[in-house]
Amino acid sequence: MLTLENIKKSYAQPNGERVEILDVPSLHIEAAEQVALIGPSGCGKSTLLHVIAGITKPNSGLVKLDGVALTRFSEAGRDRIRADKLGYVFQTFNLLAGFSALENVMLGMTFARKKRSSQRAKQLLDRVGLSHRLNNKPAALSVGEQQRVAVARALANQPKLLLADEPTANVDPQNQQQIIDLIRETCDEEKIALLMVTHSREVSNQFDRIEKLEEINLVVQNIRVGGV
Ligand code: ADP
Repeated sequence: MLTLENIKKSYAQPNGERVEILDVPSLHIEAAEQVALIGPSGCGKSTLLHVIAGITKPNSGLVKLDGVALTRFSEAGRDRIRADKLGYVFQTFNLLAGFSALENVMLGMTFARKKRSSQRAKQLLDRVGLSHRLNNKPAALSVGEQQRVAVARALANQPKLLLADEPTANVDPQNQQQIIDLIRETCDEEKIALLMVTHSREVSNQFDRIEKLEEINLVVQNIRVGGV
């Protein structure tokens, strides 16, 4: 369902030197598979998610998502594929402040080819326990509730793959497990593959498959071997 081949990404520094961030020979995730991605801060986890989502173009290599070679498309093409096949849950929720919970979830449907459906948006908000908060704007929701709206929005288009970048980093401890359960159970029910970045061992230990980025990213291995 998701295949990465020989992904390389580097950034130019202000002094003109290039700093290597990613060199990932391969990564494969099956349909509906759930994977935790762990690794020390700065090792390229967010960059890898951005490459998989088509937000960042790698310098070289192939990202194949649901049979489509994402990396062969222009930015506009990648935006369309992302809208169609991918959901993204951010650390910082990224909800639009001027819109209600229901509108935020509906906005998650705007760019996809599938028809917008307020019924699905309401169902999802019900699924995340917020059917009584449909018309509240983010500021009138707790942080746990805001992240639940963001999860509903990410699932609105029935994606093939959900990327979650430390989805509980900014959620109070009482609500963290609820968010994890919500994401994992919904992905399981809707046969959505899940790649979740987490710093928490408590969270990663719940997954059958754990990928350590320092093992699959050769740049990090080189840094360790070189002792830099
Ligand atoms: P992680 O998510 O594992 O903490 P990131 O993917 O955010 O790591 O960052 C990996 C490295 O790439 C960091 O050293 C960061 O400073 C660098 N980096 C990320 N984005 C850029 C950019 N746009 N320009 C230059 N360096 C960047």
